[in-house]
This record gives sequence, C-alpha cells and structure tokens, in this order.
Amino acid sequence: MTTTIETYGVDPTPTPLALLLLGREADPNSERGVECPGDLPPASDPDLVERARAAKEKLGDRVFILGHHYQRDEVIEFADVTGDSFKLARDAAARPEAEYIVFCGVHFMAESADILTGPAQQVILPDLAAGCSMADMATAEQVAECWDVLTDAGIADITVPVSYMNSSADIKAFTGKHGGTICTSSNAKRALEWAYEQGQKVLFLPDQHLGRNTAVREMGFSLDDCVLYNPHKPNGGLTAEQLRNAKMILWRGHCSVHGRFSLDSVNDVRARIPGVTVLVHPECKHEVVAAADMVGSTEYIIKALDAAEPGSKWAIGTELNLVRRMAKAHPDKEIVFLDRAVCFCSTMNRIDLPHLVWALESLVDGRVPNVITVDPETEKYAKAALDRMLALP
Ligand code: SF4
Repeated sequence: MTTTIETYGVDPTPTPLALLLLGREADPNSERGVECPGDLPPASDPDLVERARAAKEKLGDRVFILGHHYQRDEVIEFADVTGDSFKLARDAAARPEAEYIVFCGVHFMAESADILTGPAQQVILPDLAAGCSMADMATAEQVAECWDVLTDAGIADITVPVSYMNSSADIKAFTGKHGGTICTSSNAKRALEWAYEQGQKVLFLPDQHLGRNTAVREMGFSLDDCVLYNPHKPNGGLTAEQLRNAKMILWRGHCSVHGRFSLDSVNDVRARIPGVTVLVHPECKHEVVAAADMVGSTEYIIKALDAAEPGSKWAIGTELNLVRRMAKAHPDKEIVFLDRAVCFCSTMNRIDLPHLVWALESLVDGRVPNVITVDPETEKYAKAALDRMLALP
C-alpha cells in the first residue's frame, strides 16, 4: 500500500466525536466541569495568590499539588512537583501520606494517578472540563470494535496493543487485558521493541504520530509498513489484506496542539532565524519531525534547553506555556515558539488559579471536590499494562 501525505499528515475527515467527552458518570447533557458549586472565585480577585497560599498552608502535608509542564505559570507556582504525566503519577505514588492529590493537568493524568496511588488517597482535578482531545479520540467501544476487525482478519492473536500514556483508563485496561503495554514519549521505542518480541504486529493507540515517528525514525520501518485505522469508517477503512500486510496499525488520533505544527512552520522559522535549531515533540506530524533537527519528549526538550550554549537559537515545537517558561528561564538563549500562531492546550488551560483556589479552599472546608476514581476492574487491567511498562528493559 502507498501511504500518502493525507493519511499521515493533515487529516481530511472531521471527527464526528465530540471533543471533551464527558467523564465517567458525568451528566451527558452538561459541559464537563462547569459546575463548581457556588463559589468559584472571579479571576479578577486580587487576593487569589494569597488565598491559594493560605489554603495550601492550612492543608500542609495532607495535600500534594502536581503541576504538568503545560500548565499556566500562575498554577505552576503552587505545584509541589512539576513533570510530565507519568513522572507526576509516580511522584504522587511516592507520597502516601498525602490524603489529597490535586492534579493540575488533564483527566487521563488524574486517572493514572488514581491507579498508581493508594486506596486512602483521593485524586482531585480542579476543573473536570480539563480533558484531552487525543485521549477522547479512542473510546472503549471503538477499540473493542477494532479488535473484532483484527480478529476477523485473523491477526488479533499476533497483534500486541501498545497505548500511549495519553489515553483513558479504559484504553489502558484494554491494553492490559490483551497482553500489551503502555508507553510514554520517552520510552516508545523500548515499548515497541518489547511488543515485537511478543507478537508480529502492533496496534498503537491513540496517537498516530508518536507511533509512526517511532516506527519510522527509530526502528527503521517504512511508511508503507504502517496503516491508519479510522474508527469512523467500516473496518477502520482498511481491507483485511492491508491489515495482514501491515506491521504497525496506527489509531487515527492526534494531539490538537502538536498536530498544528506544519512543514511551513519549520521552513518559515529557518528563514526568519538563520542558524536556528528546530526541536520538536514526537507528537508532531511525520513531515515536521523529519524536517526538525532534534526530536524528543517534554523532559528531553527541557534538558536540551537547560544544557544549550548561551547565544544559541532554538525554535520549539511543543505547548506554548512550556516554551514561554523556558524562554523566560534562559534569557541568554534565543528560544522561540515554532509557529507564529498561538497554540496553548486549551483543556490544560482550564485549570487556572480560580479553580485551584476553589479546590484547595473546598478541602480546607471539609469538602472533597472533583474526585477522579477508576473502578477496580478497570484499574486492575490498566495497572497490569502500566506495570509491564515499568518492567521494560
Ligand atoms: S497537549 Fe495534546 S496530548 Fe497533551 S493534554 Fe493537550 S491535547 Fe492532550
């Protein structure tokens, strides 16, 4: 099969799936997270910083605040630790004395923290509307249907699911149940190598770009070794023969932030800033990654910029809050955002200081808001997949 740029670049088919799917047991008729009963402080309240500080102090060791790298500075200021989603979940698990884990990140991250923390700990997401468009692009029903398609094509028993950390607990549980593993953007190659030792094919969920970039850039696959499974088309839009010939079955999902960078962004920044080093996240499209000088996870990007020579010039293709923070932290280096258009993660940005203050003050008042809970059955299988990742060589 010939893979065209359309199938792995700009996706021409609009998704009929509503973004910001409602969380477990939420009211499907209302927007997730709009309800902060009664007393969400206004963003204009001049005392917000003082209120956050006072509430955090009152709660002491009972609360542990996690801040994802893509969060706003006003929220990061109150984080006890910062990191990517997996590091934060592990940090939370290492603090069993904290009754409340306030996760300043998005829904799937809070789910992972709930899976990895003890039963006495409660994980709180300050705004339930903080979802992830990528995670929402693979539902449990769609993935079960896909597995039926692979079964009918006679390849399910030689296919190993590998799911990106950026997926719902349901998808992680599916992965665990079918002998697969979770990966992050730092260990995707190791996870894939492990998977190809267990079987002959991989079903990679839900980020097509991370899957394709890892297979092609790091493992020597050709683009034609990969097929794109579209959950909105009958049989994923693929014939049984295409599925049987593929080594890598990529789910048609992507990050709404990293998917916006284009080859034009790379060419434009090279023309504007001679000598610039282009460093992008592997959730970017394949042609962007192929045109970049360096590719790596959020933690890799932070380390590369920390270690860069004074006077060096960088164009970074990842979330804007992080790029701005890095530029501020390194005034001796020229660090710019890869695209001229503003590109915040809108759902990450749902967590702002008013929501953090509301969550902390609720805890002080003895109310535990927005608790994220994964049911025991889902947790068991999702944890099996996460444990396989932790055991990767
Ligand atoms: S940056 Fe992309 S993958 Fe991360 S939470 Fe936002 S939409 Fe999801």
